[in-house]
Amino acid sequence: MDFEEYRERGKEMVDYIANYLQNIRQRRVFPNVSPGYMRTLVPETAPQDGEQWDDIFRDVERVIMPGITHWQSPYMHAYFPALNSFPSLLGDMLADAIGCLGFTWVTASDCTFIALLAARTEILRKFKNSGLEDMEINSRLVAYCSDQAHSSVEKAGLIALVKMRFIECDDELSMRGDAIQEVIDKDREDGLIPFYVCATLGTTGACAFDNLKELGPICEREGLWLHIDAAYAGTAFICPEFRKYMEGVEYANSFAFNPSKWMMVHFDCTALWVKNSGALHRTFNVDPLYLQHENTGAAIDYMGIRLATKFELLVRNDSRFEVAAKRILGMVVFRLKGENELTEMLLKRLNRSGKVHMVPALLRGKYVIRFTVTSQYTEDCDIERDWKIISATATKVLHDDES
Ligand code: PLP
Repeated sequence: MDFEEYRERGKEMVDYIANYLQNIRQRRVFPNVSPGYMRTLVPETAPQDGEQWDDIFRDVERVIMPGITHWQSPYMHAYFPALNSFPSLLGDMLADAIGCLGFTWVTASDCTFIALLAARTEILRKFKNSGLEDMEINSRLVAYCSDQAHSSVEKAGLIALVKMRFIECDDELSMRGDAIQEVIDKDREDGLIPFYVCATLGTTGACAFDNLKELGPICEREGLWLHIDAAYAGTAFICPEFRKYMEGVEYANSFAFNPSKWMMVHFDCTALWVKNSGALHRTFNVDPLYLQHENTGAAIDYMGIRLATKFELLVRNDSRFEVAAKRILGMVVFRLKGENELTEMLLKRLNRSGKVHMVPALLRGKYVIRFTVTSQYTEDCDIERDWKIISATATKVLHDDES
């Protein structure tokens, strides 16, 4: 795309966005597709040659939109608002064009840290029946990287409170098998527990490559998590002629690279692959009811408060319902009187209809529905329409419950 085409396509995009937001009520608020639906809509492999913009753009409606939850829809009442505005959309465009890197503690650095935490979860599991307390194991953990690794690797060790050993590289600034093996052996003799190696492909200082062919088998034999930080060089492996620099990659437990470095994708964007995603789930999974969905922010829209008050009144005027917690801002928490199952069934049916979208919460054992006014496009007529749908669905649920 050249400057001229960018000018033209940019204007088309602004029109598309304006139409999208203006006509958002016509869309089903919550998608009715299953995870994986995209697989049949996209080719098996990436194209060899770039495609025409028209073809790419057509995929927005054909491939992407069917899977979107429309957070800006007036019929979105789940979670909290996550609003945009026209000035904010324009500002984002400018920020992307300037593309200034904030150098924050995120992205590839985050992946090193995340992988380290996952590795720790796995080693704690392994020692579960060893008679040692988690705290005792944690104090003996030791991780390794080369003395050329990015500073974020050291930081990951600092934050996770584990020892990080910096292995001396060879003359080509590559971390080698013999060097790391010697340190691991010494650590084991001293009663420490080696658990994680961060190897770098494309170091920050010299774009040197650690020797995965030597490190991989050692990690496998020693039971160490092998994370590969290929922040910059990862993109180069698209080209077959550079893949020799990642030989031994099959031993990796996790691999991170930054599309925002070399794939012409905006900062910040890091891709993290993990061999065993279960380890990540075990490490980070928290399971509050309001984040659960069938397949498993907190900006307040002050305009929403009047509309939430209106919704609250509608609930209170219907004796089948109760407002389960005091409403203060733009969220009304309500439920059908009686057993939790009734409200659960009501929410399930409402969300399945795709006409409104809400999430539940559990308040002192009571299953409740959270109704949040999240969109700046919500009007009185939308609240009245939503209530009509909720009320009619409740009638069906109560009728089915009786019969
Ligand atoms: N790892 C390596 C090898 C890097 O060269 C860099 C940055 O240049 C990073 C990690 C940090 O990447 P990020 O800014 O995405 O955290």
